Amino acid sequence: MNHNWRSAVRRTVLGFVFAGLFGLMFDLVAWSLAITGMGYLVWHYIQLNKLQAWLSTSDTSEPPYSYGLWGALFDDVYRLQRRQKKSKKRLKAVIRKVQDSTTALRDGVLMVNSAAELEWWNDAAGQLLGLKEQHDIGHPITNLVRDPEFKAYFNNAQYDTPLELISPVNNEQILLIHITLFGKKDRLIVCRDISHMKQLEAMRQDFIANASHELRTPLTVIAGYLETFIEYEDTLSPKWSRALHQMHQQSQRMQTLIDDLLMLSRLENSDDHQSVKVPLTSLLTNIKEDAISLSAGQHSITLKCEDISMMGNVSELSSAFSNLIFNAIKYTPEHGEINIKCFKDKKGIHVLVADNGLGIDSKHIPRLTERFYRADPSRHSETGGTGLGLAIVKHVLLRHEGHLEIHSELGEGSQFICHFPLSRKT
Ligand code: ADP
Repeated sequence: MNHNWRSAVRRTVLGFVFAGLFGLMFDLVAWSLAITGMGYLVWHYIQLNKLQAWLSTSDTSEPPYSYGLWGALFDDVYRLQRRQKKSKKRLKAVIRKVQDSTTALRDGVLMVNSAAELEWWNDAAGQLLGLKEQHDIGHPITNLVRDPEFKAYFNNAQYDTPLELISPVNNEQILLIHITLFGKKDRLIVCRDISHMKQLEAMRQDFIANASHELRTPLTVIAGYLETFIEYEDTLSPKWSRALHQMHQQSQRMQTLIDDLLMLSRLENSDDHQSVKVPLTSLLTNIKEDAISLSAGQHSITLKCEDISMMGNVSELSSAFSNLIFNAIKYTPEHGEINIKCFKDKKGIHVLVADNGLGIDSKHIPRLTERFYRADPSRHSETGGTGLGLAIVKHVLLRHEGHLEIHSELGEGSQFICHFPLSRKT
């Protein structure tokens, strides 16, 4: 029991005692007690009324005057109100700050509720996606951004990788859309203008393609002359002959490098992807023949292929499988085994190239398909590789809706498996 409560009880008891004694003097105890009780009741109703009137008129005006338990109650409510007002003010300031900072963001930010309706967006999102103030609030986002790709991406709810989208207001603007789920299936959408980045990327690709193309002609001339000189090498001193052979070898390496670079930029740039029915058995048999002549009898090469044909681009597929099979020969010492398999199951079509050669340390495996990445740079001086082979394989597989799986252990050998979807089977 707190102090106010105790003194209120004490005052009430004393009041009734005096009323009783007063009643005794006039022999009217019952009347005196009843009138005192009524007086108390009326007083409490008046206080209650004051409290109700005060709470309903204002939230922070001074409380009405009272004393005792009611006075303490008014003070407590007043203190609570002030505390609440302060935290409300603080909260409002934080919300305003967050809104100001998101408004100032150059990236577009949108909030969409669990029913896919647009709740809030910043100025940048309005400009990038062409949203109109007030009018668009509460409308389904897929009705406002009508691109079918966006609709499929939004409804699919798999937001691990972002979506690239052409801006609905400007055909030349490319947007990158990230969606994050939060709360009860609410979504935060962040969109960024990546047109500039795309332009730089296109410039980089064009530069590589043009430089490779321009280098090709002079290099063909140099290589041609070197070949002619080598034909007459018996007329030259042995010192010149060795130099000529080295120059010829290096010019051939440069030609392979340029061919690989051109192939990569073709794979990256061209949408022209002619698909025809490709019988995998005959394609792999031809590559195996080339592999046998490259190996010059130093490896045992086997091919087991189910009778499968798939839709694809012959030269691209041939280039991808050749890269894997020739790599197996390059990185497998003499008398090693190279097994090529091609089969299908309910997961798709698979082409496997396995060897029992040098193998690759597991730390290199995730980066092998990067351009010019080599597991062991000391190896490539012997093999004469360009470091672009697996990057080409990756791009070819991407263009065939496939992917590459790599298993390898240092000293034990490697397995490269190309997976294609069953929808490609013919
Ligand atoms: P490269 O022209 O150097 O062979 P690739 O892109 O074809 O370039 O291969 C990248 C690297 O992966 C190679 O440098 C090599 O270290 C490693 N590698 C590829 N295939 C094999 C394999 N069958 N066995 C061992 N290492 C391999």
